[in-house]
Amino acid sequence: MTQTSEPGPDFAALVDNINVGIVVVNRDFEIVSWNRFMAAHSGHGADAVVGRNIFEAFPELPQRWLKQKLRSVFLLNHQAFSSWEHRPYLFEFPHNRPITGGVDAMRQDCTFFPIPDDSGEPAYVCITIFDMTDASIYQERLQRTKQDLEELSARDRLTWLYNRGQFETELHAAFKHRERHGGHLAVILLDIDHFKTINDHQGHDTGDAVLRHLAVCIRDSIRASDVAGRFGGEEFALFLPETDIAGARAAAERLRQHIHEHPAEHNGMAVGITVSMGVSEATDGMPDPEALMKEADLALYQAKEAGRDRIVVYGENGAG
Ligand code: GH3
Ligand code: MG
Ligand code: MG
Repeated sequence: MTQTSEPGPDFAALVDNINVGIVVVNRDFEIVSWNRFMAAHSGHGADAVVGRNIFEAFPELPQRWLKQKLRSVFLLNHQAFSSWEHRPYLFEFPHNRPITGGVDAMRQDCTFFPIPDDSGEPAYVCITIFDMTDASIYQERLQRTKQDLEELSARDRLTWLYNRGQFETELHAAFKHRERHGGHLAVILLDIDHFKTINDHQGHDTGDAVLRHLAVCIRDSIRASDVAGRFGGEEFALFLPETDIAGARAAAERLRQHIHEHPAEHNGMAVGITVSMGVSEATDGMPDPEALMKEADLALYQAKEAGRDRIVVYGENGAG
């Protein structure tokens, strides 16, 4: 333990009572000092470890890494640091935070600094260990909150599908990907038929239930790689990567059938709906995803004109 010079403060008591781990090793990696923090957290008192090689006393230590660290401090006679963000801990100590913190062991920031002998040469390295568990838990929480907020701002509150902004961002990325790598990219624009009538006759709540139900139908009938969003009030959009126009038509037809077979339900009443869809595929030379959506929109308009409850592919049968 640290010597006390008279007169003056009791440095040994200071080292023992400070809420920081202090370990001093010599050039043979033998422990020469081990404070109470280390004893309390490791369960090994100073009398059991002082005089022993640190790697023999604690074989679970990251030996290669720590030896390199200590050697460089001796060699360069210079301080070194290790952050919990890069290496969560040096000594695996349990911590007393609630399990909900999600941290398995005490997070530690460590400093390594040389201590000279009488000749001025670095004869020892002092390792200090700071408990960073609370900081790591707060950072983890902050990260989760940030993710939650991002998720919230990307989703439509009613259907939990992507909102229009996020859908357009995703479509933009898919469009660029196709431009660079080729392949297919199709979009489907879907609009509920006579939705205003449902709202007017059965109430807005029923309308909302229908919208939520339709989102479920969409999720149930698309592939994992397909992306769906709520585009406007009762208008939904999907894009299907690596899908040609025939595949997109088949997907739209499957969805139309699914909606036929699965009416929505509200207050114990079945509410059947039909939908109209416009389908289009990205082509070479198409300037932007807006042009692609415009085509799908024109096809959707024609589906409505032709009597609703149907699918129109842009450019087919004079459509578009
Ligand atoms: P069409 O077959 O031509 O598409 O007729 P439509 O009645 O579906 O079309 P229209 O655009 O006239 O009506 C859309 C309605 O959607 C009007 C609006 O009140 C309703 N709407 C938009 N957003 C919501 C919503 O979040 N909840 C509910 N319940 N209704 C909504
Ligand atoms: Mg409509
Ligand atoms: Mg509409």
